[in-house]
Amino acid sequence: LTESIPGVFATVGLHPTEAARYDDELERALLQAARHPRVRAIGEIGLDYYWDAAPRPLQREVFLRQVLLAKRLGLPFVVHQRDAAEDVLAVLREAGPPHRGVMHCFTGDLAYARACLELGMHLGIGGVVTYRRADDLREALRWAPLDRLVLETDAPYLPPAPYRGQRNEPAYLPIIAGKLAEIRGLSLDEVIKTTTDNAIRLFELPSDLSAVTGVDVATRPVEVGEP
Ligand SMILES: [Zn+2]
Repeated sequence: LTESIPGVFATVGLHPTEAARYDDELERALLQAARHPRVRAIGEIGLDYYWDAAPRPLQREVFLRQVLLAKRLGLPFVVHQRDAAEDVLAVLREAGPPHRGVMHCFTGDLAYARACLELGMHLGIGGVVTYRRADDLREALRWAPLDRLVLETDAPYLPPAPYRGQRNEPAYLPIIAGKLAEIRGLSLDEVIKTTTDNAIRLFELPSDLSAVTGVDVATRPVEVGEP
């Protein structure tokens, strides 16, 4: 996809559910892949204690190694975290903050947001922000510095409220932006511009992203679902 579609960029990394596959050879392959000019981050890396598909100490070791790899390459990284909030912080602290990265699909509360931001991380906001039970997340987003928020889809998973149970699509992104605008009392344009700028800065994307992709996100119609 990355090679055939202009404006599509990639991340490379070993997901925590696959941690048992990590060895020196795989690390060399990651290093090699990360040199591709369209690769802009290491990820998803992190800890997944929900699926527990690999021993937890091994997950922590593999996560740490990939954070250090990202730092060595001067790349940001994308963190996957499930039922492992505190251990993710512990590894990030061990890896030597401040970090350049994003907590992907952030669903934490104010205290967790604060801890992540103190380590230098950005928060990736997706469909969950529209869910009825996500009051703690919305409270965190009322407070979080706007220049540390980026929008994401996690498609095909976690579609915004009006489409729950269906396949998620990047086209629903304006619904997330609309929700964030509502939470922050900002205009939709402001949220789109700021979060796009944040992503461009974080991943060192071309500054004329709309021209590269041929998609002008700002002109898409938006319907904001029930919270
Ligand atoms: Zn993930």
